[in-house]
Amino acid sequence: MSKVAGRGKLAGGRRRQAERRHDFVTLGIALAAIILFVGTAGVAMPTLIRAWQGGAASPDVVLTNALLLNIALILLGWSRYKALNAELVRRCASEEEARRLADIDHLTGCHNRRSLTAALADLLAERAHRERALAVVAVDLDNFKQINDLNGHQAGDEVLQAIARRIGRLLPEGGLLARLGGDEFLCVVPYHPQVPDRIDQLVSRMIETVATPVRHETASIDVTISVGVASSTQLDDPNLGTASAQKLMHKADIAMYHAKKQGKNRYYWFEPPMENELRFRNELESGIRKGIALGEFRPYYEQQIDLETGRLTGFEMLARWQSPEMGVVGPDIFIPIAEEIGVIGDLSDRLMSQAFEDAKQWDAELTLSVNISPVQMRDPWFAQKLLKLLVKHNFPASRLDIEITESCLHENIGMVRSMITSLRNQGVHISLDDFGTGYSSLAQLRSLPFDRLKIDRAFIAELKEDHHGGKLIDAIISMGDGLKLPITAEGVENEQVLQALRSMGKLKGQGYHYGKPEPAEKVLERLGRQDLLSKQVDSNVTKVNFGAGDGPRESGAKAG
Ligand code: C2E
Ligand code: CA
Ligand code: CA
Repeated sequence: MSKVAGRGKLAGGRRRQAERRHDFVTLGIALAAIILFVGTAGVAMPTLIRAWQGGAASPDVVLTNALLLNIALILLGWSRYKALNAELVRRCASEEEARRLADIDHLTGCHNRRSLTAALADLLAERAHRERALAVVAVDLDNFKQINDLNGHQAGDEVLQAIARRIGRLLPEGGLLARLGGDEFLCVVPYHPQVPDRIDQLVSRMIETVATPVRHETASIDVTISVGVASSTQLDDPNLGTASAQKLMHKADIAMYHAKKQGKNRYYWFEPPMENELRFRNELESGIRKGIALGEFRPYYEQQIDLETGRLTGFEMLARWQSPEMGVVGPDIFIPIAEEIGVIGDLSDRLMSQAFEDAKQWDAELTLSVNISPVQMRDPWFAQKLLKLLVKHNFPASRLDIEITESCLHENIGMVRSMITSLRNQGVHISLDDFGTGYSSLAQLRSLPFDRLKIDRAFIAELKEDHHGGKLIDAIISMGDGLKLPITAEGVENEQVLQALRSMGKLKGQGYHYGKPEPAEKVLERLGRQDLLSKQVDSNVTKVNFGAGDGPRESGAKAG
């Protein structure tokens, strides 16, 4: 695009030169005609006037014609000169307008990245010789994609315009505002380096003002922003033109990113260690992308037990990343990043494909539970894609249990309900995971067709200490009875907890008491010992040597 603009500029320059030449020619002709007029008129005019007054003979015809021609030439030249001048003024104005338009963001009317970078570079060079500093404030809307998805792009545009207006109004004299693209804004604010509080106050007000909901048709859209601030005093050299400007903008961006990581809707001043954090995060991101392509993510499996009988009923698949640089990385690190960078669907598909193949080697009675991220549940095609994957791997839907968390229910409950319904119609079971940590209402629990509740391990952990936790779990179990929802207790860590749970009702459970999550080959060894391998593969796998013991915990999980 800049190339095109550059070419346009060149062509315009040549045209202007040609016009100027043209201009001189016209002016030259008019001047020559005037000189000629002075010459001829000096001779012809007096004779002509006298002839009109009847005091002289008719003037020379050739001379008279030459004079008339001369006058015509002068008039023609003059009018042409004026027309050209008017055209020139018009073109200059439209070129000026084009330049202005190239410097502004069309949606919001504020600066764009190009013009702001140039303006900041100039300001930095100026300020370097004075006592004033410049604060660069990077502003990014939180969850703007969701606003667009839920309310449409028209609403998204209106939100951006409203935010630009609100921030613009807060800026002090000399402040600049730009939209850098998408939902990113940047402000430049002059301030006295001795009173950075002024900037703190300004940014706090920004966050507050933006938080007032934006109205669009009948909807009221909540917006928050994450903000990063960097000061020109943090630059080594403010005199490197656009390079200094870009450096400062990058620092503000890093601080903004830090604000996002700390939970959004807040601001941070740039500090040097943030740069390392960002580098680490970028390495993680590219590592995850590469790792997915190279198959470095592997399913591990945690046993799920019928607490009453001690029978193994199935496994929950828990993802692990075997990173060549970092070793085994847990899902708490990589799942949120995979969600954020939009690769969770791909990652989950690959893990599930592997898990279906693994589980086909287990006894056909054993179930497989997989965790599904709220981000995946936003995809309207999720149910279809999952069913297709089951068919592809020839894995029975009835053996699959998907675990979704309460946070899925806040997003688009209608869509979640229809997804759950179509999956259940195909035989897939649905569990509500981490129950108790979110805010699902009783009404939601009743209206959504779940097959099971999983009580979060934070509640189960309380059974180790006192009996308050016990009362809460009792209450959840009675509620489950009322709603006809079977219950699984997560985080069963020892015999004491197991016994407490057994006294409370018929539950399933899982936890370190039965062993930590283990890779597929260890699961096969375990199942081989319990005679729980698929009858088809049984003959191949029993040849493996199952020598290594699993310690005393093994005794909790007996084959049924
Ligand atoms: P979750 O679904 O609640 O999984 C149970 C977590 O508790 C697992 O951590 C498991 O290792 C741990 N755990 C199991 N028993 C005990 C115990 O007795 N005590 C304690 N303290 N912890 C226990 P993990 O594997 O680190 O998984 C963390 C979370 O990551 C999971 O929580 C799940 O929400 C998510 N996750 C794991 N794999 C996937 C995946 O493939 N896709 C998605 N979307 N999320 C996943
Ligand atoms: Ca789970
Ligand atoms: Ca859980």
